[in-house]
Order: sequence, then C-alpha cells, then structure tokens
Amino acid sequence: MTQAPVGTPDTAATTEDVLALARDQVLGRGIGLTREQTLAVLRLGDDRLEPLLELAHEVRMKWCGPEVEVEGIISLKTGGCPEDCHFCSQSGLFQSPVRAAWLDIPSLVEAAKQTAKTGATEFCIVAAVRGPDERLMAQVAAGVEAIRNEVDIQVACSLGMLTQDQVDRLAAMGVHRYNHNLETARSYFPNVVTTHSWEERWNTLRMVRAAGMEVCCGGILGMGESLEQRAEFAADLAALEPDEVPLNFLNPRPGTPFGDLEVLPAADALRAVAAFRLALPRTLLRFAGGREITLGDLGARQGILGGINAVIVGNYLTTLGRPAEQDLDLLGELEMPIKALNETF
Ligand code: SF4
Repeated sequence: MTQAPVGTPDTAATTEDVLALARDQVLGRGIGLTREQTLAVLRLGDDRLEPLLELAHEVRMKWCGPEVEVEGIISLKTGGCPEDCHFCSQSGLFQSPVRAAWLDIPSLVEAAKQTAKTGATEFCIVAAVRGPDERLMAQVAAGVEAIRNEVDIQVACSLGMLTQDQVDRLAAMGVHRYNHNLETARSYFPNVVTTHSWEERWNTLRMVRAAGMEVCCGGILGMGESLEQRAEFAADLAALEPDEVPLNFLNPRPGTPFGDLEVLPAADALRAVAAFRLALPRTLLRFAGGREITLGDLGARQGILGGINAVIVGNYLTTLGRPAEQDLDLLGELEMPIKALNETF
C-alpha cells in the first residue's frame, strides 16, 4: 500500500509547502498523499492551480506513463432502480425522466464492436440495480460469452452489490474488472444514499478483489461534500488501492434530490483531479461523467494534462458525452498513445 511512512508528519502539509512536499514524496518516491496532505492541496488558491496541475501531470507521467486507457460503457438495464442515490436519474423513486428498459444481446455485441473500433480496450456492461437477480446474471453470462467470442476487448461489469456466489460466477465468466463506486466519503454517504450503506459497498469491493478481478471504484464530486470530506474520500480510495478510479462531477439531473445543486466550479474540479492523482500516484484515473458541464471543452485538455490517464468514449449512461473522435483527436494532438490490449488477453 502506498501510504506515507511513519514519521511523515501530516501537520507539515500546510498549503504553503504542500507542493514542495508532494514533489518529494509523491513524484520522487511514489508515496501518495495522506488525507491531511490531500486536504492542504484542496485548499490551495487559484493562483497555485497551474503548478499543481503541472505536478499532477509529472506524477502521472512518471508513475503511470503516457498511455491513456479508453473505455466504452453500455447500459444493459436502464432505470427503475429501487435504490435512492440522490444524484441518480435511474432511481425509480424519483420523478426523473429515465424509464426502465433492457438491451438485447445482439445490440450489446454491436456496441462492443463499435467501442473496440475506437481503440478502446475495456467495455463495461452496466445495470441500474441494487444487485443482480438471476435474470440479470443470465443476461450478463450470455452477453459476456457473445462478446468474448466476437470482439477483441476486455469486459468489465457494473451490476451493483454482489453476493459471494455472484462474485465467483462473474470471475468464472472471465469478467476482467468490476466497477462499484463508493461515491463519496464514508462520513458523507448517508447524505447521498439511505437505502444501503457505504459498508455494504465496501464488502462487495473486498470480495471482487479477493476473486482476482480488477477493482474499479470512484465516485462523484460536487454533491455538497466539504473539502475535508473530499480529502477523506481520496484517503478511503487510497486504502482500497483500486486499479481504476472513475471521477465524476455532479451533473444535477432534474427530478433528483440533487437536481438543484450548483455545478462544481471548473477550478475546484481541476484541483480535485490533481489532488486525487497525488493521493493515488499509480492508479488509472478516469474522467467519467459530468466533465463537459463542469469543465467545458477545454476541460479535457487540462484534465489530461493534470493527472487524468483514462477516458470514457461516447455517451454516458443517462447523459450525452462528447463525440469519441474529439477525445481521440485530443490524445493524438497531445502525443499520448491509447493503451493497447494486454498481451495476456
Ligand atoms: S446509482 Fe446505481 S444503485 Fe444508486 S439509484 Fe442509481 S442505478 Fe440505483
């Protein structure tokens, strides 16, 4: 685990010296920032944003390299979820416009083919559920098999909370990575979700890791959490050591309890991306949903030059993203190669 060694005083991380400290500790030695140090970064003023992004970029280049991982996502089952995650337009408990729908297997395979054509190495099958029932597990098994037979791409799944038996079955199907977001800091989670607990999510992640699947776990920033809680969340993730962290920014959806929240200011979003990179120097840090509305068109460039090393191409689950070509052109322009498929695949 990449934690600060004993004797690294958290209290030394004042906003004045935290960049120098991070340069030595994170860039020099590959040791992620602690919770207190991350908080000091999140408190840096806008006048320090540029050197912060530069440092985050250097850290990413040194500890992850120039490659960018590209992923496509598809919704196998949309809407009608019984849970009450306050940001989510797929909950059946709110007056949001997303209605329940299922995708058939041929459409799933076609989407995987289109995704592979963009150069993506990862295709994630997502379902809006608390956890999979037998019908969903059967659909996923059929879908994964069909994709593995016809398309050169690694399959990931995001199907909510799992039992041990379901974890074992997904691993046996050859699912490469499992996404399950903790969404926010443990201390803020009850303000976001009341129908299940942070600990239930954590248990699923623990089982996924033990079964040998890669762990993908991130969350959403800008849901009303404090800077302290944002730092707490980064530390929670660092303790989990996920292979990938998708960072979303709240895109307030009409009809959800968070529908009236303000969009996170662009500088805060970029500062958070850089802070998470410094807390997680070796992790795939992926731009996920909400970046267009938070950062605008320039955000992709700034984020990719400020610690991000993975993107989702095309549309997100319930909102439109930028066209794939725009992101792929940008990677070409920045001379950042798209990560190739693993040789062991
Ligand atoms: S985030 Fe997932 S579990 Fe929560 S309401 Fe949306 S689909 Fe359901």
